[in-house]
Amino acid sequence: MKCPACGGRQLGKLRKNFFFCWNCYLEIKMEGSTTELFSIEEDGNLQACKDLTRKSVNVKLKSKLG
Ligand SMILES: [Zn+2]
Repeated sequence: MKCPACGGRQLGKLRKNFFFCWNCYLEIKMEGSTTELFSIEEDGNLQACKDLTRKSVNVKLKSKLG
């Protein structure tokens, strides 16, 4: 399985149907043929992330985390 946003394979399973990409810090929900992406806000809430190619979101998150 690969991350639909960055194509990376560094995925960790969070819970049923939910995965986390260590490369772009996005949470991925996979249910049947449906894939949804969420960015994780500073307060821990999930924000739906519809534009899979928007790298600026990932860069912003990375800088926040470290
Ligand atoms: Zn990724």
